[in-house]
Amino acid sequence: MSKRDYYDVLGVSKDADEQEIKKAYRKLARQYHPDVNKEDDAEEKFIEIKDAYDTLSDPQKRSNYDRFGHEDPNQGFGGGGGAGGFGGGFGDIFDMFFGGGASRDPNAPRQGADLQYTMTLTFKEAAFGKDTEIEIPKEENCETCGGDGAKPGTEKRTCRQCGGQGQMNVEQNTPFGRVVNRRVCDRCSGSGVEVEEKCPTCNGNGRIRRNKKINIHIPEGVDHGQQIRVSGQGEPGANGGPPGDLFVVFNVQPHEFFERDGDDVYCEMPLTFVQVTLGDEIEVPTLRGKVKLKIPAGTQSGTKFRLRNKGINNVHGRGQGDQHVKVQVVTPKKLTDRQKELLREFAEISGDEETDEQHGNFFDRVKRAFRGE
Ligand SMILES: [Zn+2]
Ligand SMILES: [Zn+2]
Repeated sequence: MSKRDYYDVLGVSKDADEQEIKKAYRKLARQYHPDVNKEDDAEEKFIEIKDAYDTLSDPQKRSNYDRFGHEDPNQGFGGGGGAGGFGGGFGDIFDMFFGGGASRDPNAPRQGADLQYTMTLTFKEAAFGKDTEIEIPKEENCETCGGDGAKPGTEKRTCRQCGGQGQMNVEQNTPFGRVVNRRVCDRCSGSGVEVEEKCPTCNGNGRIRRNKKINIHIPEGVDHGQQIRVSGQGEPGANGGPPGDLFVVFNVQPHEFFERDGDDVYCEMPLTFVQVTLGDEIEVPTLRGKVKLKIPAGTQSGTKFRLRNKGINNVHGRGQGDQHVKVQVVTPKKLTDRQKELLREFAEISGDEETDEQHGNFFDRVKRAFRGE
């Protein structure tokens, strides 16, 4: 299946700015989120939307996409890292067009691969950030041999098969003539060096895989799907090249009371019809404790109130969001005889009268509808 144009997927123009892209993404993501949308292709669409957003929201990836389209040679390079960090991107484009990695000098410094780690956070951990430690399996240079794969005290020498080139010419006769292929030397695996006796710790690989603890600082305000880069904590480089980076991607769990859109927080407060009819002062939970909120007499169900700056601190330090409180009037289900009596009395006194103008019009419209007008 051919991939749809990312701008078409999000329904934005080619020159849409960051805000427009973000807005379009949020709207679509809400619409097609598999938790919400139960249509068969919702998940597929959601992934497509997410892919489009991941690319277009990242200036580097977007410019690559604008130039190369879906054929971007940088995509997926370096262990699926993400923003920036692919080692020597231009070298790889060069290799793609001019004969592949085998033409590369095996002894040239190479940057290590990037690593990606998905971290699950609670709603509040994402809102407030935290310092934590993760343990990930990663390659390290072997301490016994210092990374060259030779048992300490034994000889290393230039590979006899490739003469230290790390690659060989392989000639083949075909009906079209003689073809010469360059291949990575299988004796030295392209290193150009062979060892007399392999290092027993790493079995000659020069590297060992072990769990490594890494301290991670999660800034306050990170959101679902965002990632941070931990510089230099990817796989080690080769031949003295720098290590790759570690990308930590956040998977933020939903909260049972709060919902989040960007830095704004949303919640619903259940109120009795007495509270909204007569007015009340209520307490609303926020991320940082309770806040008093005045409910004016005559408040309708569905009315929204805004608590300024009670949302989430922006991850880039640009202020904080608001908390939006939606009033939800709860109709009582169990009433005592006395309560029923009072309500009937209330209804009798009220009769057909309706003093509130807006409300009155509403009831008038209902009456007219009953009369078939
Ligand atoms: Zn070793
Ligand atoms: Zn060799």
